[in-house]
Amino acid sequence: MREIQSRMDNTHGAVWVIAEQIDCRILTVSLQLIGQARILADELETSVEVVLLGDKLNGQTQQLFAVGVDRIYLGNDPDLVFYQPEIYTEIIVKLAKERQPEIMLVGSTSMGRELAPLVAATLETGLTAHCIDLVLDENKILEQRVPAYGGLLSIICPERRPQMATVAKGVFPMPELDKSRTGEIVPLDIPRDIPRRIRTLEVVHQEPQGVPLESASIVVAGGAGAGDLQGWHVIAGLAKALNAALGSTRPAVDEGWIGLETMIGQSGQMVSPELYIGVGLSGELQHMVGITGAQVMVAVNNDPKSPVFEQVDYGIVDDCRGFVPVLIERIKEYQENLVAG
Ligand SMILES: Cc1cc2nc3c(=O)[nH]c(=O)nc-3n(C[C@H](O)[C@H](O)[C@H](O)COP(=O)(O)OP(=O)(O)OC[C@H]3O[C@@H](n4cnc5c(N)ncnc54)[C@H](O)[C@@H]3O)c2cc1C
Repeated sequence: MREIQSRMDNTHGAVWVIAEQIDCRILTVSLQLIGQARILADELETSVEVVLLGDKLNGQTQQLFAVGVDRIYLGNDPDLVFYQPEIYTEIIVKLAKERQPEIMLVGSTSMGRELAPLVAATLETGLTAHCIDLVLDENKILEQRVPAYGGLLSIICPERRPQMATVAKGVFPMPELDKSRTGEIVPLDIPRDIPRRIRTLEVVHQEPQGVPLESASIVVAGGAGAGDLQGWHVIAGLAKALNAALGSTRPAVDEGWIGLETMIGQSGQMVSPELYIGVGLSGELQHMVGITGAQVMVAVNNDPKSPVFEQVDYGIVDDCRGFVPVLIERIKEYQENLVAG
């Protein structure tokens, strides 16, 4: 109904971003999504609106206006200080029913991965997870692009609204700041009568181990070819020898060799190092979209026909469990010679 109405009067609902904050700091992915929302909204001739839930967030609103937001729906309440799935869903769904956004974008974070499907299911609309691009087609329908079948697939949601997508940090660039921009703040009433079966009591911050992936100049990524945890430690040793960040593919995470936060790709992190070394991985697009910003790429794989070799600058055909320990030895010798002078 709403889509037909939209087309008749040629107006579109707003482009929404569900912003995320931790300790009152807006996450980078939310700011990057606002930048893309601004581009889409300008094309649709509509506004960019943000839902921001938490407590004591009045100090964050100017930053949101400066990156392109026109209106902020602000929920400031001690009950919202941590993400609470049921209450966050209730607030966003109620507001979306009232305000009828055209598009709703959510970060592919721990919160977003849970919240976006909850909201989409309650609103009975579609959701595309882990998009790597968002554009409008000739009918101003959102093309939600994901890697699939060795290429890019455009998913559309022509009938239902809002059109919903999650996107990881680093897919879109940071928007430019315009500190002169202002906008409207709409304070939200926080409902008290929502049954809460799940309650977040505390958030414990885990210190990242080793070199952080997002700022690393060298990334060593390991894949299923490591074979087992012992093989994985060999690859981790290469990262250590090079003072590099250690990344992974999905199978390495699924095997429990390393945490999800190290996964590179469509549903993980985007990295842009000067040097990327992929060890024992096949070069599947879902992983490779995460390293498009790398300057020099190297792969180690024991299968000369592996597709990864078509995508990298230098390829080494060898068993990683034999080759990598030798490489580590050579690196150490080189480093010692440098120190010796
Ligand atoms: C919606 C969706 C999202 C996804 N998102 C991501 C994502 O964000 N990141 C991600 O990584 N994956 C993601 N995946 C999974 C992705 O499609 C691939 O399955 C995954 O990247 C493959 O990992 P791999 O290369 O380690 O394993 P494989 O494809 O199994 O490749 C292992 C490679 O190791 C080589 N090998 C084996 N033994 C050795 C040895 N001894 N020495 C050297 N080489 C060896 C083999 O020749 C092979 O090429 C996603 C999938 C879907 C459907």
